[in-house]
Amino acid sequence: MKAKLRGHHLICLNFFRGEGYSEEFIRNIYSVIGKEKVEIVVGPDDVCARCPYLEDNKCANSDYTDEKILLQDREALRLLRFKPGEIVDWKIISAKLPGILDEWKALFCLDCGYLEVCFNE
Ligand code: SF4
Repeated sequence: MKAKLRGHHLICLNFFRGEGYSEEFIRNIYSVIGKEKVEIVVGPDDVCARCPYLEDNKCANSDYTDEKILLQDREALRLLRFKPGEIVDWKIISAKLPGILDEWKALFCLDCGYLEVCFNE
């Protein structure tokens, strides 16, 4: 079984600590990260599918904009050197994290509401 994930979730889900927007959203994430393989997609993915902020196939979270989320996806794939359509596994993703995390954090984490959850900051 494989999960379909957008670019920034390949990074952010490594820091999942059981927190999220609703019980259903959190339960779904446990199921997503339990799948062995990941197919990289553009736009809403298996996490967004159970998110209360997905509206008309766009991210309507007031903390972000759909454009910013799409930019995060592109930058995540640039840093990880993956392309949409590729199928990867979590081991490959997590092996790449140490080499890209400083840049990712500087780009997107410092003003993210999950900064404390992910980095205890
Ligand atoms: S907040 Fe936006 S990007 Fe994040 S899971 Fe929800 S719809 Fe997807």
